[in-house]
Amino acid sequence: MSQGLVVGLTGGIGSGKTAAADEFARHGATVVDTDAIAHQLTRPGGAALNAIREQFGPEFLDAAGAMDRTRMRALAFADAAARKKLEALLHPLIRAESERQIEAASGSYVILVVPLLVESPGYRERVSRVLVVDCPEAVQLERVQSRSGLAAEAVHAIIRSQAPRAARIAAADDVIDNSGSLAALHKQVAELHQRYLKQARS
Ligand code: ATP
Repeated sequence: MSQGLVVGLTGGIGSGKTAAADEFARHGATVVDTDAIAHQLTRPGGAALNAIREQFGPEFLDAAGAMDRTRMRALAFADAAARKKLEALLHPLIRAESERQIEAASGSYVILVVPLLVESPGYRERVSRVLVVDCPEAVQLERVQSRSGLAAEAVHAIIRSQAPRAARIAAADDVIDNSGSLAALHKQVAELHQRYLKQARS
């Protein structure tokens, strides 16, 4: 399977990556989600916790022994060097676990979900194709706010920290337009699935 088709799925915050990935999984693809892996690594007992304790101090772990996400987010937002240190610690672990899951994949092909794929040369080299889930920023904002109640300015700050929409589209081999209904999203996934199946077999 390691030589098989690996489609990198990306998109801005709230663009619909998870909704699309879930649908690919329903069709029989194996989904490897780097965000989910990052969460597992920093949960109680996760493989990143010892390094986090050593490099940031025990105050960055919560009572349950997980990384204190709120505290770490605040630090990473305020201190670029700390953010780099955290990334340097987590990225190799995330990458190694992604590779392990790709090797173990039993689906017809792999959907590798990487929110910052366009910004990450290492992942771009790893994937066979780049699939971008796209929608206007106003739609991203509305969906993220109705999901999380985050303030508009906070969502804008995240959007600004990510690659611009045009840069993502320019890097894409395939694009899902997720400005419409979930049914419209599902239809596009079904069409791409047929193409990916053919590519995986050839
Ligand atoms: P994040 O970057 O925050 O991880 P994401 O790109 O994975 O987000 P989703 O979680 O799939 O995005 O979608 C964001 C929200 O919008 C979710 O609540 C989801 O149910 C909803 N959503 C996604 N696509 C549509 C759609 N076409 N119509 C209506 N709601 C949608």
